[in-house]
Amino acid sequence: MKSIVIGSGFGGIAAALRLKAKNHNVTLIEKHPDLGGRARVFKKNGFTFDGGPTVITAPYLIEELFQLFNKKPEDYIELTPLKIWYRFIFEDGKKFDYSGDESQMKKQIKKINEEDVKGYEELVKFTKKIFDKGFTDLADVPFDKPLVMMRQLPALLKLKSYKSVYSLVSSYVKNEKLRRMLSMHPLLVGGNPFTTTSIYGLILYLEKKWGIHYSMGGTGNIINGLEKLMNEVGIELIKGHEVTNVISSNNKIKGVKLDNQTEISANNVICNADPPAVYEKLLTKKKFSTLFQWKQKRMEYSMGLFVYYFGTKKTYDNVEHHTIKFGNKYKEHLDDIFNKKKLNKDISYYLHRPSATDKSMAPKGHDCFYVLVPVPNNQSKINWTIEGDKMKDLIIDKMEKALLPNLRENIVEDFFLTPDYFENELNTKYGSGFSIQPKFTQSAYFRFHNKSEICEGLYFVGAGTHPGAGVPGVLSSAKVLDKII
Ligand SMILES: Cc1cc2nc3c(=O)[nH]c(=O)nc-3n(C[C@H](O)[C@H](O)[C@H](O)COP(=O)(O)OP(=O)(O)OC[C@H]3O[C@@H](n4cnc5c(N)ncnc54)[C@H](O)[C@@H]3O)c2cc1C
Repeated sequence: MKSIVIGSGFGGIAAALRLKAKNHNVTLIEKHPDLGGRARVFKKNGFTFDGGPTVITAPYLIEELFQLFNKKPEDYIELTPLKIWYRFIFEDGKKFDYSGDESQMKKQIKKINEEDVKGYEELVKFTKKIFDKGFTDLADVPFDKPLVMMRQLPALLKLKSYKSVYSLVSSYVKNEKLRRMLSMHPLLVGGNPFTTTSIYGLILYLEKKWGIHYSMGGTGNIINGLEKLMNEVGIELIKGHEVTNVISSNNKIKGVKLDNQTEISANNVICNADPPAVYEKLLTKKKFSTLFQWKQKRMEYSMGLFVYYFGTKKTYDNVEHHTIKFGNKYKEHLDDIFNKKKLNKDISYYLHRPSATDKSMAPKGHDCFYVLVPVPNNQSKINWTIEGDKMKDLIIDKMEKALLPNLRENIVEDFFLTPDYFENELNTKYGSGFSIQPKFTQSAYFRFHNKSEICEGLYFVGAGTHPGAGVPGVLSSAKVLDKII
């Protein structure tokens, strides 16, 4: 059985390995000369900048890939649990160190609002129920038939999936700061906490279940470990070539065509590339059913990301590994990004400082960072060649005031990525950071199916298909594939 995987994000690599373990003859094709997709690495003058994922959760999903071939994960990668998961900084400058230490969590909640301690406990219990259903039972279930969805609807309604994560959290916790903090998880997978289905409240519990980990050497080190494994087990890697066509005939997959005109035949094509872009641009089959066209048109896309990578010639020892800084008008900011598709100066941001845990990420005496700001996706028509530098300046100003004094004069290395990079380099529709949004009407059966309804032999793994974005999500999508191919 010949299977081709298009794209080397976490989902694509996991799919290639899972199919190889089933004795398929597997070729993985990646447009770029390096693997990882959103998890690519940029190395500059002694700094190692992980391009994307930094918060590693559910590490067993990564470890399983090595175990499929009776290999020891620790021979390839090193994952370290973090003590403080996120440092939240609120608009008034007050801090909250969010961690798996429940007594520390409750102590800090009590300081903010004593009566919310009970609500927090109840919220955690409820998110366990969501986790048991949404993650344990359903994350690797193929939702390619309406009946599968219908069977799950009563349970999902009982878990209040029609509510947003913010509204679920608000039903347990009264204080606005705590509400923001405990409902921010959808942002990690491309959703607005005010509209994302509360199924995604499961991330709150998922973090507690396995902790938050850091990959020593950076997340890129996991990609390196997986690349080594793919080479060892005989997966063919074609790097630096883009698939320009997915060839089908009589509704059956025949293979792919590359940008150098080479054609490769296959029984199955597994797309880790963004599903809406694949359906629009790569398939030789152009006629889709009216129902499918409606599905394509109705999709709403996740936000875009502005990511500013920078290295400093001094270290900022008081800055935690992961910091989340809220702006004043959080809800309005999110509304501008997701709905009005316009920029807002009152930004919230996530700051990554891997050198807090791993000195190898920066030259001696230096610090390595990236700061991520959610921005509108390219439906906004923002001209990033103009707005990019302005956004960079705004962020530096904000960070200088809030947590990195004299930052500007200490920066020795920097560059940024905008939604244009996600659209043009990673081939993502509208340059969205996380493919389609994680709304209820775009989840499970309503998402792009893992097994395409358009063509026999065409499959999807990765952020745009079930269960969704985030490293655990895309690794789980490869487990779905395991069940259907
Ligand atoms: C800045 C940032 C921070 C994040 N932080 C976290 C985090 O801390 N924790 C977490 O769990 N998740 C995080 N995420 C989300 C997570 O990184 C992604 O959801 C996940 O990595 C996406 O993986 P994927 O399998 O969908 O593939 P992608 O990473 O999207 O890769 C798809 C690949 O397909 C390739 N490709 C596309 N079209 C073609 C073609 N025609 N031919 C050949 N190749 C093609 C692309 O070049 C790319 O390499 C973050 C994302 C970003 C962007």
